[in-house]
Amino acid sequence: MSKKILIDLAKFRETSVDGKYNYGECTYDYHPNNIGMKDIVEQAMMRLTCRHCEEAPCINVCPTEALEKDDDNNLHRALNLCIGCQSCVAACPFGTLSNRIITNLKSICDLCDFGDDSLPLKCMKTAPEGAIVFTDMEPNEAEHIYRLNDRVLIKEFVWDDLKKNE
Ligand code: SF4
Ligand code: SF4
Repeated sequence: MSKKILIDLAKFRETSVDGKYNYGECTYDYHPNNIGMKDIVEQAMMRLTCRHCEEAPCINVCPTEALEKDDDNNLHRALNLCIGCQSCVAACPFGTLSNRIITNLKSICDLCDFGDDSLPLKCMKTAPEGAIVFTDMEPNEAEHIYRLNDRVLIKEFVWDDLKKNE
């Protein structure tokens, strides 16, 4: 099985300057403003930080119907519809949606081709040390490691961890 990437969101927070994260650089030559890690962090926020509100204020306030939930109740933002107005950022009562991520320029991460995992990806070399690494680990809630997809694990403190441990 091919290696996975482990992304430690706490490391981005710990190394932020004036609230700005260093997401590392990206390899999209024809789209120099694309920072793929923002795409990953957006997916992680919507999966792990979002409270999955039944009557979601973020969805209700969006003027372009760019936000919707999938069958697993996870939120997604449609690239072609979002105008970056940030109404959803203001409407979310839990601070899930951040204006660091929700902008009118949405980045995309295609996870490069990391078949040769002896070579670090550009984001790994330029993000804070240890924030993005190759791993053989499996998801493990006790260590706050969650599956984002087949190739990406996220290390993050999930909002309902305390509830799970009661
Ligand atoms: S920022 Fe995008 S997703 Fe959020 S409310 Fe505005 S159009 Fe909708
Ligand atoms: S309002 Fe916030 S917590 Fe509720 S569904 Fe939207 S993003 Fe998630």
